[in-house]
Amino acid sequence: MSSRTYDVVIIGAGIVGSACAVECAREGLSVAIVEAGIIGGGATAAGMGHLVVMDDSEAQFALTRYSQQLWDEISDELPREVEHDACGTIWIAADDEEMAEARRKEKFYSDRGVPVEILDAQSLAKIEPQLRQGLVGGLRVPGDSVIYPPSAAQYFVEQALARRAELFLGVAVETITADCIRLRDGTSIAAGVIVNSAGSWSPQLTRGLEVKKRKGHLVITDRYPNFLRHQLVELGYLKSAHSVTADSVAFNIQPRKTGQLLIGSSRQYDVDESSVDVSILTRMLDRAVEYLPGLRKLSSLRTWTGFRAATPDKLPLIGPHDEHKRLYLATGHEGLGITTSLGTAKILVAQIMNRKPAIPVAPYLPARPAQEPAHA
Ligand SMILES: Cc1cc2nc3c(=O)[nH]c(=O)nc-3n(C[C@H](O)[C@H](O)[C@H](O)COP(=O)(O)OP(=O)(O)OC[C@H]3O[C@@H](n4cnc5c(N)ncnc54)[C@H](O)[C@@H]3O)c2cc1C
Repeated sequence: MSSRTYDVVIIGAGIVGSACAVECAREGLSVAIVEAGIIGGGATAAGMGHLVVMDDSEAQFALTRYSQQLWDEISDELPREVEHDACGTIWIAADDEEMAEARRKEKFYSDRGVPVEILDAQSLAKIEPQLRQGLVGGLRVPGDSVIYPPSAAQYFVEQALARRAELFLGVAVETITADCIRLRDGTSIAAGVIVNSAGSWSPQLTRGLEVKKRKGHLVITDRYPNFLRHQLVELGYLKSAHSVTADSVAFNIQPRKTGQLLIGSSRQYDVDESSVDVSILTRMLDRAVEYLPGLRKLSSLRTWTGFRAATPDKLPLIGPHDEHKRLYLATGHEGLGITTSLGTAKILVAQIMNRKPAIPVAPYLPARPAQEPAHA
């Protein structure tokens, strides 16, 4: 084990830690990346990889929009394995109340320069003919896209290693001290800055973090090319994602570049058990079939679960810890950490380098005052 001192130690090589590592390395900082398991093997492997602009609060919008622009900037350089697909999203309205929400969203997005298009029932049926009849319409967001997140994390780590980074794989951090991290094998790595980007494990290393696990289920099908063209999400999703106590399911489906369909999603609090919960899974698939009756005839290949790292106000923690002088946090990204990894890395590094970030950081600072919860 190296006894060197690094400018920065990054704990966790999920998509957030990997993106932070490459951003630090680009600044010319020496970086140690310490990952207990495999690169991108935590929530990053479990997530859907939907790069989506969200509008539940101005702060959530600012970070998702900024991050999406950063993804677009690097889309040409991403390796094929990242499977970047500019498929866009359609938010589906099943009734008039949801159509009113689609129109509200249309105004919010267009006022802020995000291209969007309202679809009536006929144009929705034409653009996605597998959807059931009787839906009222929807909102198309053509700029949203999809990636395969573990390959993106791998790519970011490789980019960091090509600069001034070293990777310590398969070694768990036991504790964070005043100026170093102690590993479970008893060795230490000293650093000027320590970044806790251990996702849903982050509270185990930094006591007092208000980050809770929020379990999700996903199902992937066999290959059915051209079954769908867009990521489809029910507008009712927002209602279910609001709940911070009850178990919820919502229709959310993604066409993969492989021709497979990734079906989500569920949300459960206070569940540590990673096994598949058949009752939740059944509710989730029933909901999907309500929207896409043709799904009944398709075969699924695999089902899995993962844990989102949720904060009380649904915004991530990005910036210096309020007590530990060398510690920075990049955690608590709930269901948007794939999207917001790039924005997180930029604004974290701006704070480390004492530069003005591209977007205001106050809403994401770990020391922020308690706020009303935003949504998903
Ligand atoms: C079902 C589901 C669907 C989702 N869909 C989307 C989506 O469509 N779009 C989107 O933007 N987001 C989505 N998300 C959220 C997204 O997956 C997460 O926000 C994101 O992956 C978080 O990345 P991370 O790097 O913070 O955490 P993780 O990927 O969990 O990485 C943390 C890493 O830290 C390591 N680690 C933990 N403890 C230690 C230790 N002591 N020492 C060293 N290493 C340690 C772990 O091994 C792990 O690799 C979804 C999540 C789920 C569960």
